[in-house]
Amino acid sequence: MTPIIPRRIKTIRTHKENGGRIAAVLPIHYPRALFRAFDILPVEVWGPPHVDATLGSAHLQPYVCSIVRNALAYLLSGNLDLTDLIVVPHACDSLQGFASILIDFVKPTLHPERSHSERNEVESKTLLLAERKPILPIYLPRGTRDSDLQFLAAEFRSIYRTLTQITQRNPSDAELMVCIAREEHADDLLAELHRNRSNLPLSQSDLYRLIRSREYLPAEKFIEIVESVARLVARPARSPQLPIILSGIVPEPMTLFDALDAMNAYVVADDFACCGRRLYPRGVSHDPFTRMAERILAAPPDSTRGSAIEERAKHLESLAKTFGAKGIVFYDVKFCEPELFYHPTLRKALSDCGIPSVVIEFDLNDPLSQQTQTRLEAFMEMIASVPSPL
Ligand code: SF4
Repeated sequence: MTPIIPRRIKTIRTHKENGGRIAAVLPIHYPRALFRAFDILPVEVWGPPHVDATLGSAHLQPYVCSIVRNALAYLLSGNLDLTDLIVVPHACDSLQGFASILIDFVKPTLHPERSHSERNEVESKTLLLAERKPILPIYLPRGTRDSDLQFLAAEFRSIYRTLTQITQRNPSDAELMVCIAREEHADDLLAELHRNRSNLPLSQSDLYRLIRSREYLPAEKFIEIVESVARLVARPARSPQLPIILSGIVPEPMTLFDALDAMNAYVVADDFACCGRRLYPRGVSHDPFTRMAERILAAPPDSTRGSAIEERAKHLESLAKTFGAKGIVFYDVKFCEPELFYHPTLRKALSDCGIPSVVIEFDLNDPLSQQTQTRLEAFMEMIASVPSPL
């Protein structure tokens, strides 16, 4: 079964036709419910892959990852013109640099179709400033202490005030809680998709297309599609020959899953920043801002939130034991510093628990290379004889 998932551009156009706004959101963590309360649909930008990155490269050092390079090129080529604001969570130094470039140098406008020569001479500098597309950085704490929670809740209150200025709306706490409840329901279903994947009548690539549609579909549409798929759970669970875990930032190109199918490898769980690290549990606070912050801080450990190496090792070991994975593939975007810092110690800790791993790097603009496939095949051959840690 292949679920029918609306395309990103159609989703954007429909939302705009209904009078809503669109926020282009860079990776990784942000409060979806907060934007929806202002009728702003967050649409995530993970690169995207396979764009001409030349325009982005002109502004960036060559060692900046392809997610940031592509995102800048995509924006400069006019592909984000339909969006009304750009949100840049501070996941890493590269994204921090991206936000600074937009704020201080590139300065995207809300009406890029109007060139300077078309502007009325009397249009003042103030008006030009007002035409700038708002750029909203989000600063995330690097811990989970009470002070981190308070900091993040305060950060969300500050974003609320900015969104009020942009939209002239003022959603109440009750309205925010309705949006939070809807996102929590969608995230419960997302977690169920992850957990029950081997019972679902979906290929690996279809499963990940559905999981990743959470990056742009409104929660209510995502819920509708997942519920229709969940009703079809009838098949006995798969017993994959080579159960593995994929870890990293984003699984691109998606043909990766077809290649894994051909190797009889099945991803029983993932630790991707765009997927498994965003399985946000429900919050408990009755204050909407604290509740949105609680959810993000209680997510699985993540390099971009500064989680301890031991915490990540324990999480990966627990995933491997729970789902019977025989090995872990760290499938990472080239030059991703937050991920690279962890690898040596994290892999040593996993190896000490008998869990083999391999690191494979890729660039978003490359197709799945023969070299990557050969390395994956070699790893699968190696783990074939490893007993499952169950
Ligand atoms: S791939 Fe790594 S370096 Fe690039 S934006 Fe994501 S977290 Fe930052």
